[in-house]
Parts: sequence; C-alpha cells; structure tokens
Amino acid sequence: MKPHAVVLLGAPGSGKGTQAHKLTQDWGIPHISTGEILRRAVSGGHERPRDPGHQALTVEMVNRVVGNRDQLYELVARKMQAGQLVPDELMSKIVEERIKREDAQGGFILDGFPRTLVQAEFLDEVFACEDCWDPLVLNIDVDQDVLLKRATGRRMCPVCGEIYNLYFRPPQSDEVCDRDGAKLVHRADDHEDIVRARLLAYDAQTHPLIEYYAGRPYFHNVDGNLPAEAIARELARLLKAA
Ligand code: AMP
Repeated sequence: MKPHAVVLLGAPGSGKGTQAHKLTQDWGIPHISTGEILRRAVSGGHERPRDPGHQALTVEMVNRVVGNRDQLYELVARKMQAGQLVPDELMSKIVEERIKREDAQGGFILDGFPRTLVQAEFLDEVFACEDCWDPLVLNIDVDQDVLLKRATGRRMCPVCGEIYNLYFRPPQSDEVCDRDGAKLVHRADDHEDIVRARLLAYDAQTHPLIEYYAGRPYFHNVDGNLPAEAIARELARLLKAA
C-alpha cells in the first residue's frame, strides 16, 4: 500500500490546523502547512512552529524559491497582511520542494494547499506519480458565522505553539498560555477586517475546489461544526478506511 497524502480543505477558521496537528501526532507523518511555512519565512525563522514538519523547511529554502528579501516582502508578506493569496507558481514550488524531503516519503498532511484551481492541477500532477502517495482529500465544512469567531478568536503561544480560542477554548487566565505563561499572540491576519478579506478570497478562489474534487473516490466532506474531538474521530475513521 502506498503512503497517504492527506489534503485538508476548509475555510480559514475551519480547524484544519488543529486537526492536522492531531493527525500528525497520531499517524507520525509530517504536517505541512503552507501558511506556517510562509509565516516562518517572513519572520526570518523567529516564529516557532507547533509541528516539527515546518522546521524541516528552512527559511533559506523559501528565500531560494522566492528570490530575495524584497520579493519575499512584495509577493508574500504584503499579500498575507492583506489577507490575499500568494502567487500560485511560488506556492507550488514551495510545496514541491517540501514534499521531496525524506520525512514526507512515508506520507504527509497538507494544510492550506491547494487554495486555487491552478494549485489543485499541480497536485494532480504530483498524484499522477504511480508509486508515490495515495491522495485523500478531506473538506472540513463549517458555517460562516462560526468561521468568523474561530478565526478572530484564535490566539497562539509564541513559545510552545499551542492554539487557543477566546470563544471556544479560552486559556485559564486572560491571554496567557496555560502551559508556560507566555503572553498569547493574535496573528496579524486574524484581525476582523483581514479575516473578512481571507474569507472572501476563500469564497472566490478556494471554495470552487469542492466542486473540482467532488465525485472523486478519495474526496470526503466532514461536518466541521461538530466539536474538535468528533471531527478528529471522523478524520481518523476516513484515514483508516482509505
Ligand atoms: P493560513 O495559515 O493557511 O490561513 O495562511 C495564511 C496566509 O498565507 C493566507 O491568507 C495567504 O496569504 C498565504 N497562503 C497560505 N497558503 C497559501 C496557498 N496555498 N496559496 C496562496 N497563499 C497562501
């Protein structure tokens, strides 16, 4: 049996990151989040990732793909700050380099990619490889009002990477990490105006992917309005059955 390439689809705030984190711990395959990779590159490696899968991709590698520091600002940082998408060609190159690495050969979990039809077509070429990976595309489907709260309420510990939500999973004491007491950070692009822009980008560019994958035997919709533990159980069931 070929190793799995699990692709998590879903809007910003759908809980893809949380679910990918759980899957990576349970299945021992790397979590590849394109958003994390970009944030790490933009911060010059200072932002600590929650999953070791992101450390494997060094800032140096993203810089090589992007070109130089000015390009990194223009094509990546500025787009992210505005809640817009980074160019497809760049994203596909980053993913291509990342999945070539040794640790991804036994399977991986892709979170945040593909986000456009061009990126999905690129992945189809990857999956056309006979003896590489078996794709499993899982769409986490969440109602719009829940999405906004999930994204704007999200806070992250800069030390251990733990993720909280002020509405659904607040820390015990105000905006401080339960584990290490660090002051939690509110990601710049989790502020409400940017979240709205990200949701618009999702509706226009990423939502059509559901139609693109619908009907394929390895595509499944998962109810993302359920509690995180129930979603995790459903994802694990689908992965076991695949
Ligand atoms: P995320 O953490 O997945 O919500 O991504 C944060 C931001 O990174 C997005 O709003 C985009 O600006 C950028 N980004 C991440 N993944 C992609 C992708 N596959 N294509 C284009 N832009 C991306």
